[in-house]
Amino acid sequence: MPKTVLITGASRGIGAAAARLFARAGWQVGVGFHQNREAAAAVARELEGLGARAVPLQGDVSDPGQAAGLTEECRAALGGLDALVCCAGVALPQQLLTDTTDGQWRQVMGTDLDGVFYTVRAAVPHMVRRRSGSIVTVSSMWGMTGGSCEAAYSAAKAGVIGLTRALAKELGPSNIRVNCVAPGVIDTDMNRGLDRQAMEELARETPLCRIGTAEEAAECILFLAEERSAFLTGQVLQPNGGFVI
Ligand code: NAP
Repeated sequence: MPKTVLITGASRGIGAAAARLFARAGWQVGVGFHQNREAAAAVARELEGLGARAVPLQGDVSDPGQAAGLTEECRAALGGLDALVCCAGVALPQQLLTDTTDGQWRQVMGTDLDGVFYTVRAAVPHMVRRRSGSIVTVSSMWGMTGGSCEAAYSAAKAGVIGLTRALAKELGPSNIRVNCVAPGVIDTDMNRGLDRQAMEELARETPLCRIGTAEEAAECILFLAEERSAFLTGQVLQPNGGFVI
């Protein structure tokens, strides 16, 4: 029986790249999305073309009921939940903390931190019952170092790392691993708001002299979900070209 993964934020970017890698590795995939139904359906069709069972699953992870619904629907549609990848995320335009509104702060914390809490909380009882599971959260290098004019995003992503490490300790005795991927600058829609000059500057600041691809971040996610990383838990893997060491 193939294993099943639910990937939130799988309609685009890093989550979609991860979905393709899991499908190629023989997994069944729940393709989580928020608004882009057509994009998620296209990803699911593509995975089926690769021979994997896949189902698009709509839900706003910042809503506890919808986040729980995602895990339930994934299990109902695909028959299990062996791994959970919390990849859904949003970022604000770069701005001063003093220009950040209450609503913007809530949007970022709600999706990037609360969303991980709600989704993991819903998935864990099933994994504990089976005494098996792997959870991969997605943070950011700004969650490790703090990014200037990225205060809300940095705070949320730092929270994801704390949550990951705490859960690794809490869930290890139940044979559930919890690890994190903290990418550097990756070429996805999330960075479309940055102009060419800003992207070139970020590439120049990166020791490997370029930004990363969604596939490079996704490879780390697949590695941490699979059995070949069986003795890793509470780790933060950093596909960032050396930007943060
Ligand atoms: P992206 O291309 O902008 O895609 C974001 C994904 O998250 C989409 O699938 C989107 O669904 C989903 N999403 C957004 N809000 C949601 C919500 N409230 N509920 C459920 N799903 C929601 O982003 P990305 O660059 O692939 O980023 C993926 C993850 O990596 C994020 O957590 C991000 O913070 C992190 N990250 C990215 C970078 C980077 O440079 N790109 C660097 C470090 C970390 P819809 O398509 O339906 O809107």
